[in-house]
Amino acid sequence: MRKALVIGNWKMHGLSSRNSELVEQIASGIEDEAFSSVDIGMCPPFVYLQAVATQLAETAIAVGAQNMSQHASGAYTGEVSAEMLVDSGCGLVILGHSERRAIFGEADVDVAAKVQAALQAGLLPVVCVGETLQQRESGEATAVVVNQLEQALSGLSADNIARVVVAYEPVWAIGTGLTASPEQAQEIHKVLRVSLYDLAADTADTVRILYGGSVNAGNAQALFAQPDIDGGLIGGASLKAQEFIAICRAAA
Ligand code: PEP
Repeated sequence: MRKALVIGNWKMHGLSSRNSELVEQIASGIEDEAFSSVDIGMCPPFVYLQAVATQLAETAIAVGAQNMSQHASGAYTGEVSAEMLVDSGCGLVILGHSERRAIFGEADVDVAAKVQAALQAGLLPVVCVGETLQQRESGEATAVVVNQLEQALSGLSADNIARVVVAYEPVWAIGTGLTASPEQAQEIHKVLRVSLYDLAADTADTVRILYGGSVNAGNAQALFAQPDIDGGLIGGASLKAQEFIAICRAAA
């Protein structure tokens, strides 16, 4: 009942000439029929959003940003607002990615403010949660992700929770080649689903929970076959056209 969603997170990779080739290859490689069962998004760096959005304008592929400011406008040098993202052709935004949390000190309270700002601007927030290896090994994985989820969604109405996508990305699996097994991932996705029920019983079932962490063409199918895994947030593999296309097909 939940439509699958696959999002490519390009991180800080790509220059214009390579981007347009990648976008062209992906857009022309995905059959029209696939879009009836999978939504697809691409998240290039800020400076390329408008160009990619223009290139994808005639397709069903959405464009998203990898971060945004929680503020609407003002003296925030170097920041980009939700409204600017919409104005540049974005439909979604990744929030609370573990790299933002670990490298740039983004806290749960910042993620929550950004989720609210994104919803207000009409963007689809993709809220990332995930535990570190140390937290997993000390048995804290469940508590960590539930806490991150509850904080990110705090204060949201059930209707607004229905307008959010959650991405479970175990930190130890991001960019490492280590993937959570389908069973490990499903276990956490199920926990997240139960938490969503606690927050918004009527709409929890409609919220898509993506898995991210070294997803590739070889492991995507088994991950997406799990009942609470509704697609993927894809880093490295989203920069390789054929691999990303294969992952989208696995979700369709
Ligand atoms: C990510 O950065 O969101 C991610 C999942 O990266 P990778 O697929 O490269 O592990």
